[in-house]
Amino acid sequence: MRQVTQTYALRRQSLFGARPSLKVLDHVDLDVRPGEAVGLVGESGSGKTTLTRILTGSERPQSGNVLFDGFDVWSADREKRRHFRRSVQIVLQNPRSSLDPRMRVGTSLLEPLRSLQIDCDHAARVIEVLDQVGLGRNAIERYPHEFSGGQLQRIAIARALMPGPKVLIADEPVSALDVSIQAQVLNLLKDLVRNLGLSLVFIAHDLSVVAYATSRVFVMSSGKIVEVGRPLDLFTKPQAEATRNLVGAVLSVEGGLAGTALD
Ligand code: ADP
Ligand code: MG
Repeated sequence: MRQVTQTYALRRQSLFGARPSLKVLDHVDLDVRPGEAVGLVGESGSGKTTLTRILTGSERPQSGNVLFDGFDVWSADREKRRHFRRSVQIVLQNPRSSLDPRMRVGTSLLEPLRSLQIDCDHAARVIEVLDQVGLGRNAIERYPHEFSGGQLQRIAIARALMPGPKVLIADEPVSALDVSIQAQVLNLLKDLVRNLGLSLVFIAHDLSVVAYATSRVFVMSSGKIVEVGRPLDLFTKPQAEATRNLVGAVLSVEGGLAGTALD
């Protein structure tokens, strides 16, 4: 995305006052290359989730451009927009709320193929994708409540993979999981990038988690990208104040994933 700005209108303070607005994204530039894993890190409320809505095309930016495969998503023709919608998929923070509890897993997985009207052997695709996320075909007939949080996040990742995306956006994908299984899901995402040649935009408020899974990190603060760099450089010589605060937060947490991030 290039120079993306997004402003939300707020409620009027008084009857005749001007309607105040909140600039949530301010001239944001963010790019990801084919097969690259980038991180986006920033404190809560800095605009990360808003940015994902723009990256996936579910919200139109007030100004700026969303570019994909050389075209501008919002001025492209139908066929190109269809290609974009299929190619950019998202995984959300909480798999329990992103999967319908009344639907069998197999049905949930088929849903993106149906809504995007993708023609392929649907049953074979379900089995293939379950295998890619490390689950067996016995998951198909089961319901979400029969799975643990980590397994559910694998299912949510599987659903995002169903249309054969080129870019996966993961918005705090391990923040709701037990620390003991966070690493498994992070490793799965890393493997998918490597094995499928996916691009990944990995979002978190924790720099060490982002550093573990990505090779280039964007730091966001109050709607602006304040620094971009390699994870190791951000840890050892952070430039922006927001980055220094995030590094400080990591160092004050004993152990965690911070040690393994610095490879
Ligand atoms: P993050 O994901 O980094 O925590 P968000 O993108 O969710 O940040 O939110 C950034 C800011 O935008 C917050 O101040 C939030 O209150 C505000 N915001 C998000 N969505 C809306 C909306 N639809 N209308 C008004 N304000 C919003
Ligand atoms: Mg968020």
